[in-house]
Amino acid sequence: MSGQNFAFLLVLVAALGFFSYNIQRLVSYLKLGLPENRLDHPERRTWNLITIGFAQTRILRERGAGLSHASVFWGFLVITAGTAEILLHGVWPGFSYEHLLPRPLWQLFMLSQEIFAVIVLVAVSWLLWRRIVSPPKRLQGKEIHNTEAIIILFVIASLMLTLYTTGAFEYAANPAMRAAQYGWFRPISSLLGAALSGAPEGAMHAAYTVSFWSHALLVLGFLNFLPYSKHLHVVSSLINVWFSNTSGPGQVGVMKPMDLEAEVEQFGALDVDHLSWKNLLDGYSCTECGRCTAACPANITGKPLSPRKIVVDTRRRLMEKAPLMAGELDVEGSATLLMEAPGASDAFGNRLLDNYITEDELWACTSCRACVTECPVSIDQLDIIYELRRGLVLNEGRFPEEVQPTFESLEKNASPWAFSPADRARWSEGLNIPTYAEAFAEGKRPDILFWVGCMGSFDDRAKKITVAFARILQAADIDFAILGQEETCHGDPARRLGNEYLYQMLAKGTIETLDRYEVKTIVTFCPHCFHQMGNEFPQLGGNYEVIHHSTYIERLLNANMIPLTTEHGKHLTMTYHDSCYLGRYNDVYDSPRESLKRALPILTLVEPERTKDRGLCCGAGGGRMFVDEKVGKRINVERTEELIATGADVIAVACPFCMTMMTDGVAKLESAVTVLDISEVVAGQLAPVRSRELVAGD
Ligand code: SF4
Ligand code: SF4
Repeated sequence: MSGQNFAFLLVLVAALGFFSYNIQRLVSYLKLGLPENRLDHPERRTWNLITIGFAQTRILRERGAGLSHASVFWGFLVITAGTAEILLHGVWPGFSYEHLLPRPLWQLFMLSQEIFAVIVLVAVSWLLWRRIVSPPKRLQGKEIHNTEAIIILFVIASLMLTLYTTGAFEYAANPAMRAAQYGWFRPISSLLGAALSGAPEGAMHAAYTVSFWSHALLVLGFLNFLPYSKHLHVVSSLINVWFSNTSGPGQVGVMKPMDLEAEVEQFGALDVDHLSWKNLLDGYSCTECGRCTAACPANITGKPLSPRKIVVDTRRRLMEKAPLMAGELDVEGSATLLMEAPGASDAFGNRLLDNYITEDELWACTSCRACVTECPVSIDQLDIIYELRRGLVLNEGRFPEEVQPTFESLEKNASPWAFSPADRARWSEGLNIPTYAEAFAEGKRPDILFWVGCMGSFDDRAKKITVAFARILQAADIDFAILGQEETCHGDPARRLGNEYLYQMLAKGTIETLDRYEVKTIVTFCPHCFHQMGNEFPQLGGNYEVIHHSTYIERLLNANMIPLTTEHGKHLTMTYHDSCYLGRYNDVYDSPRESLKRALPILTLVEPERTKDRGLCCGAGGGRMFVDEKVGKRINVERTEELIATGADVIAVACPFCMTMMTDGVAKLESAVTVLDISEVVAGQLAPVRSRELVAGD
């Protein structure tokens, strides 16, 4: 081994050793987080890794920047194999994959290095131009490290260039090896080398050594910069994608279960050590790309919330707190002690809540999951927001003052509004709809529970949806019943607002009622009820088949069970507004659209600019229905403007919360557009009742 090879070996060992030390340091910080099982459903997790991680499906949702980033990622995967060869070559000059692979395969490998280096160079140039010359809004913000990103892009470009120059100088310095080592499979190095081949061999040898060391030192420097920068995602993002719970419908959108009997000093989170290790890994994985913030309805309309900042702040606070804790306690003991004594954070004067993330940021969230859906590395920003909301409410009794009556009414009336429980089924008077109590008294067991929900029971506009859906069920001759006065709020608004005690009290009461009546199948037109009872009730032992009315109506239409008129009246242009809890939470996008088209074949359905899993929230989710919107533009106005811009006569919705927000938006904008629930459109086709007559409250 020559002196130079030995020197290279020392540098390599030192660089890899320092990198390993930093990785174990960062892993030890994750132990400050609470335990959480993320090993279930390995097949789904592996599929996520293949699609979201390696195929970059999320990042490719945005064409220009997405393709550039994906190209850099794929390029890195390919070039890393070549980099390993270069590093080994530095220690053992004779080492080459050429000796390990059949020659044609080795030639293809060498060709892939050069092709991907070009692709990476083009992509990096475009990304640099965009960051420096015309940065989009999502790449602006106090929390992002723009200079660091620019430096890293230059480093990547330099890595690609030194890859070529190393090859070119080697070609020029070693005429004897040209025929075997260079050719069509190393086109750029060969061309550059040929251009230099007249130069003195000694100078070329020296240039080769400088280029080789430059390339190797850039690689090792880059590697050791990662743990100190946001580019840590290069290491952590694929791991994060595997552990994520953020793709697929249903269970993935559920809030974390909480054991209120557990012997802990507090519930929810006030600091990073009250979050799970996965929340902390999310912090390591954030690329600061801002896709989440660009999709956030609160941020778009000027509220003080950026989901990217939530994640970046979590990482920053972890980096502040973890070294302090590690300095006082050994790593093994620190995790255990911290979990048992979470209040220890106060000893350091700072905490995640208030010092990094403010109450106003947390309450601005509509829980729409647009951030989670957009994140290319499967970060769950909403999970952190929910845990901090729980910390605020359960530990410190802090929530917006207008939420107080909501909590009180939920406690007293089992409804978010101060209506008498005795009035819950008033809407059904004269409609000949049995209650479960009546059906049971006659020894009957209805097939379907029509879960009406609090809005459908008390809100005057929503009651028209209730009646419309009941008429459809009757027209289709479905054996259904309601709970009537025995229906209570299941507590979802309390849960979204951080009040888990109240939620569990209401949810357990509801489950008790459902089980008493041996309910198996529930149909509801409220996506919040649909999600809560279908996906979150199992945490408390309530297991039912819960179907949203859009899906149920589609099934009835497909089975020709709904008698429809053949007179369709005037042609209508309609647009459909996706509810977050139906779409992004449960992947129901087609059923509402299909139901509309089947019931009214002459209608033209037009899509708004932001639609389906990119649809903009109405602004009412996450308990925002009960919190005043004092800052920025109203979210419902932003969304209604977009829907009206489609030129539609009718805005169709499939959620009573969306109905309220869109109706309010239309009124504020003084538009003549009508807002209808899909059940009203379908009920309007039950001859001879017309949808507009139904809306008018006939
Ligand atoms: S869930 Fe919606 S409102 Fe909340 S932070 Fe994410 S994008 Fe913003
Ligand atoms: S949380 Fe995800 S979407 Fe948001 S900035 Fe970080 S990587 Fe991008």
